[in-house]
Amino acid sequence: MRAVVFDEYGDQSVLKVKDVPDPTPGAGEVLVLVEASGVNFMDVYQRTGTYQVQLPFTLGSEGAGTVLHLGDGVAGLSPGDRVAWTGVPGSHAQQAVVPADRLVPVPEGISTEQAAAAILQGLTAHYLTHDSYAVRAGDTVLVHAAAGGVGRLLTRIVTHLGGRVVATAGTDEKRDIARADGAVRAVAYADALDAVRDVSDGAAAVYDGVGKDTFDTSLEALRPRGTLVLFGAASGKVPPFDPLRLMKGSYSLTRPTLGHFIAARHELLERAETLFGWVADGVVEVAVTGRYPLDGVQDAYAALEGRRTTGKLLIIP
Ligand code: NDP
Repeated sequence: MRAVVFDEYGDQSVLKVKDVPDPTPGAGEVLVLVEASGVNFMDVYQRTGTYQVQLPFTLGSEGAGTVLHLGDGVAGLSPGDRVAWTGVPGSHAQQAVVPADRLVPVPEGISTEQAAAAILQGLTAHYLTHDSYAVRAGDTVLVHAAAGGVGRLLTRIVTHLGGRVVATAGTDEKRDIARADGAVRAVAYADALDAVRDVSDGAAAVYDGVGKDTFDTSLEALRPRGTLVLFGAASGKVPPFDPLRLMKGSYSLTRPTLGHFIAARHELLERAETLFGWVADGVVEVAVTGRYPLDGVQDAYAALEGRRTTGKLLIIP
């Protein structure tokens, strides 16, 4: 089969499409035909060595497809079942081996492509809005990079929960998308504080996946006892930070990651059920804005990292 592999850290040019042996599922594992695989910043951190991985490494950490073959001891699944997964390396490939307890059934009414596009970023948006900070009706919430993959889902979900989103995004076109998703204000990053203060006494929460470039603004934007949810570093890592800065407003700061919020199988399934329900009901829109073959993988990541994307990019192996 063909797969996207890298054997050294670097820019997009280290990504190679190679012929590799077909994988075999071991006990408790399932072989899946990958129909679509999501393009995510997590893959960028792995490729650049920000997150260290075992080299050579097959890229791709989410996908959806059809069950081909069950390893020993797997019950409750059959060849032909449609499934999705996240947090499993090796997804930018024609086939992937996935632990059975990491697979989520794709319900009727959701396409396999929608499931691949929604699962990582959608589960992320779910735990961010329900656990990292539980949004309440009337809250003003600042969402950075609101036209991005996670950002669009956050704007929709916060609005659905009765919160008011002040959105930041890099271009007029992206700000229009944020408004269409429900943001009460959509502004350039430099105008974020003014916009928050215009509509509130400060943000109850800030969802910040941009990191280095936005961190100071995010803290400034909070109301007393507000929560800064720093969940990514699209612009780079936030430098070392003095906790005393939180005293200014008795702020809370959390730096969560999806794995801890879907570690228990029941939690993975419950969140996925809610997410897929939202997709089916149109609460969240799965906005696939680019589809690339395996051979287009360098272009896909160049677009994501070059801030040229909105919504979700997929690799179609
Ligand atoms: P996006 O689609 O949001 O793309 C990133 C966006 O960040 C860009 O489009 C751009 O929007 C903005 N941005 C601002 N500065 C930069 C910069 N210097 N370089 C690149 N982009 C920049 O990506 P994702 O939705 O895939 O991920 C968003 C964030 O969520 C990432 O930080 C990712 O790591 C994080 N994440 C965290 C998870 C967790 O559990 N902690 C899980 C999933 C994702 P604009 O042009 O509008 O500024």
